[in-house]
Amino acid sequence: MEQSTQGNLNIYRFSNLSAFEQVEHFITGRAGGYSKGPFQSLNTGFHVGDNDWHVLQNRKKLAQVLKMDLQQFTFASQTHSSNIAIVDASRKGLGSADRESAIANTDGMVTNIKGVCINVQMADCVPVLLYDPKNKVVGAVHAGWRGTLKRVSQAAIKVMMDTYGCCPTNIMAGIGPSNGPCCYEVGEDVKREAMKSLPEAEQILSVAPESGKYIFDQWQANLLQLLDCGIPEGNIEMAGICSQCKSDNFFSSRNDNGLTGRYTAGIMLR
Ligand SMILES: [Zn+2]
Repeated sequence: MEQSTQGNLNIYRFSNLSAFEQVEHFITGRAGGYSKGPFQSLNTGFHVGDNDWHVLQNRKKLAQVLKMDLQQFTFASQTHSSNIAIVDASRKGLGSADRESAIANTDGMVTNIKGVCINVQMADCVPVLLYDPKNKVVGAVHAGWRGTLKRVSQAAIKVMMDTYGCCPTNIMAGIGPSNGPCCYEVGEDVKREAMKSLPEAEQILSVAPESGKYIFDQWQANLLQLLDCGIPEGNIEMAGICSQCKSDNFFSSRNDNGLTGRYTAGIMLR
């Protein structure tokens, strides 16, 4: 993953996706926005208690820096589900300028329409970006522990296959900045849920050395799900950046005790 400064925003990109000219993608850092206090400063989430005007200015600035129109952004109202929306031309721009029009109850989006930038929002949860350069389809997924247990990344890939005829061997994937195995401790309740839902749970859970709680490796969990779908390991890039360790660069719900902004991962066909 590479970091660049555009305007005064920190923009992160996966090397494997950057190699393709037909696709634009990005993950935002915290710097360069208008929001104050716990939302300082490039908060893109309308739903977190920030000033709506600041959020709108942040999104406009991001669009400007990326040389897009605000109305190209499409956002969902995320609910830690495994629901995937197919974004056709009629859904372009939903949720771009307000909270109410965002695509309801959705944690992953896929599209084959050029110029539609599908965005997911995080504060510690895992962003997964997908691109099939053969069939020209992109996907964006929000996978926290709940979504990971519901296999939301796999749900998105299934929709790419069923709707657009994508073959997993062609799909390029990026697993973005999020709460890493260095920090992401969970309690007995989450461990029990994971053991119940994920056959591979033993590969992603370990005992935390000091607290006696459990480390839930969200990065490995999503990597295993992508591999299980048939995406070649060489097509998958892991950012390996922990949002909690790097909470000066990324909004971290854990680090900020739940009151914080959201960073955005977006992907668009040019
Ligand atoms: Zn960490």
